[in-house]
Amino acid sequence: MQKNKPGPLPIFVYSSGYDMDLGPHVFPSVKFGFLYSRLVENSKFKKHRFEEPEPLDPALAALVHTRPYLSDLTSLTMSSRLNRSELPLNREIVEAFFLACGGTVLASRLAMEHGRGMNLSGGFHHSYHDHAEGFCYLNDVAIAIRVLQKERLIQNALVIDLDVHQGNGTARIFQKDDSIFTFSMHEQNNYPVKEVSDLDIGLETGCRDEEYLTLLSQALRQIGERFKPDIIYYLAGVDPYEHDRLGGLSITRKGMAERDRVVRDFMPGVPLVTLLAGGYAENTLETIDLHFQTCEVLAEFR
Ligand SMILES: [Zn+2]
Repeated sequence: MQKNKPGPLPIFVYSSGYDMDLGPHVFPSVKFGFLYSRLVENSKFKKHRFEEPEPLDPALAALVHTRPYLSDLTSLTMSSRLNRSELPLNREIVEAFFLACGGTVLASRLAMEHGRGMNLSGGFHHSYHDHAEGFCYLNDVAIAIRVLQKERLIQNALVIDLDVHQGNGTARIFQKDDSIFTFSMHEQNNYPVKEVSDLDIGLETGCRDEEYLTLLSQALRQIGERFKPDIIYYLAGVDPYEHDRLGGLSITRKGMAERDRVVRDFMPGVPLVTLLAGGYAENTLETIDLHFQTCEVLAEFR
């Protein structure tokens, strides 16, 4: 049998401004810099491009988020719109979110031009148009989609959200929009309160590799029959991992790599944007290692 032609090299997007000081917090906000260092220090990635984003223009955030919400966020006013973020609020953190959004927009443009873009941040899928939730102030994926639509670079998009937590903010933002197909596969009995995506798969706690990968492949096949996207966003959260503190699934390291491969090979030729999303292993190095593994899969080293 003929071996499939390798796909395009992913282009990575990173800024040193991604790292935030959240104080003692379950979100490992130093993971961005560690992952970047690991990639640039590894000789396997020496042919890969790394690009640095500009912070998102706040006017573009308004393509998704409401004026009152953005006003509270940029004036650092901890209001009822912001206080479900479970994050501190200060200038550095808000700037890190605008940079992360700029990164997802840049990764999207690079994916449109070259096939694969990956922001070494992003995937803040719990952010709604009018309020923050679950460590997410700005919904970078929704913003990037609206920017590309506004510039007529795309008409439609598919969001494949495999973080262990449902992409509730993204689902709600695009609920009445047929141009965006939202797919979320997550642990059912876990945060957050669920919204309705175009396709939701709520997994039983303890779900293992075989069932997980079978359901994923079936879902993607169904989606492929119904929807032809101009671009795919992949939220490659590593919290379905068996040793994650905020997830109750039992996906092995090997299963996580296979998951990433299934998404990578799903629609060859359609631009693919990959985002980190969540990951809360006891040892942060393990979380970084799983994100690194996603980078290796995208680069087709695995
Ligand atoms: Zn998560």
